[in-house]
Order: sequence, then C-alpha cells, then structure tokens
Amino acid sequence: MSNLIDLTLSELVAKIKSKEVLSTEVTKAYIERSKLSKKLNTYVEETFEKALENSKKFDSKPDFNKKLPGIPFAVKDLFCTKNVKTTAGSKILENFTPTYESTVTKNLWDAGAILLGKLNCDEFAMGSSNETSYFGNVISPIDDNLVPGGSSGGSASALAARLTPATIGTDTGGSIRQPASFTGTVGLKPTYGSCSRYGIVAFASSLDQAGPMTRDVSDSALLLDVISSFDPKDSTSIDFKRPNYFADLNNNIKGKKIGIPKEYRVEGMPDEIDKLWEKGKEYLKDCGAEIIDISLPHTNYALPTYYIVAPAEASSNLARYDGVKYGFRAEGTNLIDMYEKTRSQGFGDEVKRRIMIGTYVLSSGYYDAYYLKAQKVRKLIKNDFDKAFHKVDAILTPSTPSSAFKIGEKTEDPVSMYLNDIFTVPVNLAGLPGISIPAGQDKNNYPLGLQIIGKPFDEQGILNIARSMEEKINFKNNINDWWIKWVTINTWLKKMGISMKL
Ligand code: GLN
Repeated sequence: MSNLIDLTLSELVAKIKSKEVLSTEVTKAYIERSKLSKKLNTYVEETFEKALENSKKFDSKPDFNKKLPGIPFAVKDLFCTKNVKTTAGSKILENFTPTYESTVTKNLWDAGAILLGKLNCDEFAMGSSNETSYFGNVISPIDDNLVPGGSSGGSASALAARLTPATIGTDTGGSIRQPASFTGTVGLKPTYGSCSRYGIVAFASSLDQAGPMTRDVSDSALLLDVISSFDPKDSTSIDFKRPNYFADLNNNIKGKKIGIPKEYRVEGMPDEIDKLWEKGKEYLKDCGAEIIDISLPHTNYALPTYYIVAPAEASSNLARYDGVKYGFRAEGTNLIDMYEKTRSQGFGDEVKRRIMIGTYVLSSGYYDAYYLKAQKVRKLIKNDFDKAFHKVDAILTPSTPSSAFKIGEKTEDPVSMYLNDIFTVPVNLAGLPGISIPAGQDKNNYPLGLQIIGKPFDEQGILNIARSMEEKINFKNNINDWWIKWVTINTWLKKMGISMKL
C-alpha cells in the first residue's frame, strides 16, 4: 500500500480511526520507504523493529480516541527519548541513552504515536544546513546537491521525502521554519513557553522552542494540539488555556490586518523573493485581509543580537559536557587534561566557535559591552513588535532570503551562513509564534516559503491565515524519488553481479 505515504497526517488518522487501514500497514509502509532512503542520511537511530511491535500492539487493542492512533513518527534527535539513544548530532553524546523522556515526545506517545527513530540535526542545533552534524550532512529530497536547511534538516528531509507522516523540530533562531521553507513543507515555531523544553537538549534556553513540521497547515494544528502543554517541569512553561487548534482551524480571515515590515526588504535579496512576497500579499487580499505597511526599526540589529545572546547561553549550557556526566570521555593524565581532551575531541568546529564567542561576551570586561547591550537591544526588538501589533493582527515576511543553497556552499563562511536567519531570528528574540508555509518555487523549481508572525499565543490566528493562503497557493512539492529508483536499479544490477556505488 505505497499510497499510504502520500496521505497527510490528518488523513491517516481518519483512515485508522475508520478502520480502513491498520497501524501495522502504515508503519510497514514508512519503514520500507525509510530503508530505501538511507542515502538521504536522515536517521541517526532507527527503532523500526520496536515500532512494528508497537503497531501490532496498537492494532490488537486499538484506542481510537487518541489524537495520533498508532501513527508512526520520527523525531529530531534533540529530544531525549527514554532508553533510545539521543545524540543531538554530536560526538560528545554519541553513546548517550537518556533515562527519561522529554515532555513533548511523551505527549506524542501518550496521544498514540509510535517512535520510528531519531532524525539527524546540526550539532546541538547550531547551524542552518545540517552540515555541522557529527553524523554527516543530510541530503534534500528536492535535489541531491542541496542542503535541507537546519538545524532540523533531518526532520525536514524525512518529512518531504515521506519517511514519516509528520515530525517535530526545535527552533532557536529559525531551525523549524528555515528547513521547512527549503523543503516545501510547513514549519511552526510556537510562542516561547507554549511547548515544554523539559528533556530537549539545551542550546539557548531563552530562545529554544519545539514545534510541528508537517505537510500541510491542518497537520500543523493537529500536532500542536498534541505537543503544546503546560509543564511544571519547565519553569518557563506557561499555563494558559490552549485552544483546540485543529477543531478551530478555519479560513475566515476577512478584515484581518496584515503588516508588511519595510525593513525586511533587505539589500541584495533576489528578485524572486520579492515577487513571492508580493504574491503573498495578493493572496491575502483575495481572502479579504487588509495589507498595512509597518515598521520594525530595530530589525537590522536582530542578527548581531542573536549571535551574542545565543552563543552566551550555549556556552553556559554546554559547560555540563565534561566527560563525567554524559557520553564521550577522552583519557587524560589528570582531571583538567581529561576535561580539555574530552571537549576538544567531543565538540565540532561550529560548537567550539559558539562556545568561544559565548565565553568571550560573558567574560568580565566584555559583559556590559556585549551581553548586556544585546539584552537591551533584544527588548527594543520586542517593543517594535508590540507596537506593530497595536496596528495589525499578524505580519507577513519571506521565510528566508533565498531558496536552499548547495551542500558545501557556505561551510567556509560562517557569517554568510548566519545571514540566512535574518527573517527568522527576530521572532525568537521576541518570543513570538511564526509559521513558514510553502508559497512558490524559484527558477530551478526549489521551494520558497512565506512566514506569518503572530501575537504572543495567537497560534490559532496565524494557523488560520496560513490555512487560507495555502488554499490559494495550492503548492505542489517537486520531489522526485531518484534515490528509491536508484536503490531498485542497484539491487537488480547486484543480482547480475554488477556492483555500483551511490
Ligand atoms: N541557524 C541558527 C543557528 O545556527 C538557528 C539554529 C536553531 O534555530 N536551532 O543558531
């Protein structure tokens, strides 16, 4: 039943609930496709056997009241999963098996989902291309020369390649929305405090947030219903009345005011992004929304602010990896020597770069000039949004300043890599919800995304806008399963005694 993999998450849920298909059939279909797709390097840990066992268990005693009844589900390897290896894409956690479950993944399993495996990501979620992972880079199913984006690159690639019906990522400065934009999928970063951070390997604690990555907007609402919860185990988790995002999803956005921030028209932005943005405005007008020009004057400072705050928090969060408490340990002649060797062998270059920047901006003498200043600017960025939201209900921007770039294109130039986050980081600094939806293609047929930013806790509002736009856009993702055809041909060649390498 290969067409099972073509169904959206909500369609699958409906089919399982109406007993048209069994969880085992769905799980088998995804396992089979995942096994044929090793070339993409999406999985760092596969739990296929256990998944099959669990799906059989579900089918023998199904509970159709669950929101994700027997749905196979792969997750970013930044979420701690009890008794299943969790690496955060790092050598230092290569052999780390948590004894506890993150709240977000626990919510998934409680809703009936079944773990398929853990998905590759940039090391400690630091990156925009999935090239900093210790387990190698991930290939985009859109084109084998392209990065899938990052840091949730394994999640985006697996989702677009249909190796999982939906997935979850984390977004500190764009890691859900940017890879969604690069792979023609939908990525939602909820309001800070909406999804618990408990059990997520920490990068920058005041910015990190988990969120759904899905094939369409309805799936995003459905998944948000499952993963967003108040959690006393996370001191920044917020106890607010969570709406029923999926049931309340609608496309009535008549009279909604949508802001267009002039500062997001950055120099050197390709024409096609500008055109996409214009088209986005037209779609919104067609839906009866009103377009209003707004200003977010401190936008220019968002990237430098982010690249001070995020490394500062990362440097202190990563102090815990000392060869004693978790994972990898290098032998040393004494304790200090062991710490040094463990950290220098255990972390990759990008992580070391962030630790050095972070330690520098927090050190006495530089703290006021960099870290404190950055915190003040962060507040100004937040104030810009607060002011804008007096005039508008939501804001429309491009998700990224370009379509997906080529593997290796930016690895030697970290600053050009950082520039990719220009439209996403302000949202994290202000703690707001933002969603990226596929909105068009560039001249090579590579996907392009538009971002809708909402008021705090107005996920429903941006989901409704996204849903309305999605209907107008009618986006068709352009993946071709070249790697699956290749594996089939290769198996056939092998039978004839010819061996070829992919
Ligand atoms: N690309 C950004 C960074 O490297 C954002 C990463 C993220 O959101 N986890 O910091």
